[in-house]
Amino acid sequence: MKAEPAAQARLLHLQELDSELQLLAHRARTLPEIAEAAGLKERADRLETDLIAAQTKVSDVERQQRKAESDVDQVRSRADRDAKRLESGQITNAKELQNLQSEIASLGRRQAELEEVVLEVMERAEALDATVVRLTAEREEAVAEHTAVVARRDTAAAEIQWDRTRVAQDRERVAGEIPADLLALYDKLRAQYDGIGAAPLRYGRCGGCKLALSTVELNDIRAHAADEVVRCEDCRRILVRTEESGLGGRTEQ
Ligand SMILES: [Zn+2]
Repeated sequence: MKAEPAAQARLLHLQELDSELQLLAHRARTLPEIAEAAGLKERADRLETDLIAAQTKVSDVERQQRKAESDVDQVRSRADRDAKRLESGQITNAKELQNLQSEIASLGRRQAELEEVVLEVMERAEALDATVVRLTAEREEAVAEHTAVVARRDTAAAEIQWDRTRVAQDRERVAGEIPADLLALYDKLRAQYDGIGAAPLRYGRCGGCKLALSTVELNDIRAHAADEVVRCEDCRRILVRTEESGLGGRTEQ
């Protein structure tokens, strides 16, 4: 393939722009805010789940509390009824009187037990309420942090996108000044070899694979006309001769 040395030199400019585009794309993909936002989202979701679980427990405990309180009320009203009967003086049968007194005593013990249950349930309810308050605050904080990080992430992404658009426009312009066959070869090699299709030959070394060319390879390149497109024997990329190629003599541009 043949191409004017100036067109070959433009290939190096195009490569710089393509490498910059590649770098910008990498930066857009690896913005630290992306991982940070994902982490905060996960934390907010986890807190939401914990909060729902705690709220469910609060409802359960509230139901237990109502049940325990109603049990206490029942026992108390029965004891009150018995006490009234006792005080009324209407019961004269000794056996019946004893039974009633024994029942009142038993109801008193039962009431004390149930009141213990009420207290215990109330303590659990208080602890759960505190948990709900804490989880609500933590979740709100995570959501607020997430919102802030997302805003920072989007601003950073928009700035990178702005740079990409500008560099892509430059690339379009420079690519337009390169012969179609040379450009097609370059694009094919770029796709094949890690984003680098053309590299400068500097001081006898390929800028693509960084390897020094052998004397035989350098002599071979010297033998080619300046408008002949040459390739690196090692990495197969287009090797563009520069003023510092280290070839000496007439092939220097
Ligand atoms: Zn090479």
